[in-house]
Amino acid sequence: MRTIAVLLAAALLLAIPGIQHIQAQARTPAPRTTLDIYFLDTEGGQATLFVSPSGGSMLVDTGFAGGRDADRIVSVMQTSGLTMLDHVVITHYHGDHVGGAAELAGRVPIRRFYDHGPYTVELQPNRRAGFVAYKAVRDLARVTVPRVGEKVPLAGVDVQFVTSAGALLTNSLSGAPGAGASNPFCRDARLKVPDPTPENQETLGLVVRFGEFRLLNLGDLTWNQEHQLVCPNNLLGTVDVFHTTRHGDVNSGAPQLISAIRPRVAVMNNGERKGGAPEYWQIVRATAGLEDFWQLHRSAAGGAEHNSPDSFLANVNEDDHGHYLHMSVRTDGSFTITNSRTGFTKEYGPRR
Ligand SMILES: [Zn+2]
Repeated sequence: MRTIAVLLAAALLLAIPGIQHIQAQARTPAPRTTLDIYFLDTEGGQATLFVSPSGGSMLVDTGFAGGRDADRIVSVMQTSGLTMLDHVVITHYHGDHVGGAAELAGRVPIRRFYDHGPYTVELQPNRRAGFVAYKAVRDLARVTVPRVGEKVPLAGVDVQFVTSAGALLTNSLSGAPGAGASNPFCRDARLKVPDPTPENQETLGLVVRFGEFRLLNLGDLTWNQEHQLVCPNNLLGTVDVFHTTRHGDVNSGAPQLISAIRPRVAVMNNGERKGGAPEYWQIVRATAGLEDFWQLHRSAAGGAEHNSPDSFLANVNEDDHGHYLHMSVRTDGSFTITNSRTGFTKEYGPRR
């Protein structure tokens, strides 16, 4: 009897058009307006996921082989409601960047890859595995080998390659504040003898712009290439967020670059014992205008002196690996960063 009464009441409610309308409105989620960026922990590789307001996606690098990093990527995709990836950029063919690509392609559809071409200078037995596994996927995939200046068509977001396959930007980036200005930090600039990892020089580097917001991700580009991008003139202009080069290793991180681009925030994709060099950390931390330096791990080499406070560390290296940093960006250039380990969130207002 009671069930019948409830059914009757429900039928009456549905018969009133106004109430149906209100119910339909309540079910429609508010449209997403932010660019969401997830800096995933791959224990010293790279996997950075960008999700545009309309749900378009770009993943920069796939972490290591072995399944762990592909799992972490798929898990964050689920968190952000993605069932496929529109664009996957492989910055270069070292195992900490391309390693998870074949496994990931076996788990989720990938519309298009971007890479530096079907060859790596490093085909030594100990360095080729990631590339060889990826090449089997690549041979059947849609692939773009972008030229410097080309863009990734990520809806609502401007993504431009500034380095690719050894070529570097040669003209100042259009629309970038301060781009083309002479760089005073070149005066005392040093160059370095490159270490024997020529594959790093092939890195696909990106500038991501969303409204007033700008982020620079140069993968594992080398110190001397960083120098060329900003000396004698700073071709990149300034950015809000600098994704550190080469995990914070001393073979990258030229101060003439970092000082010239004047980031408000840096994010370092280091592992506990990968990158996170004290010298690199010090160069970033000493940059004028830097508000915070977020790290994916506490660096063992950094000790007490060369690590950010715990709130800014996604992983502190006990039994809690796998936490990520989530950045949510608005078109006015303001953004928040949240530490998935602790829930600690910091708000950054529009650039003054
Ligand atoms: Zn690397």
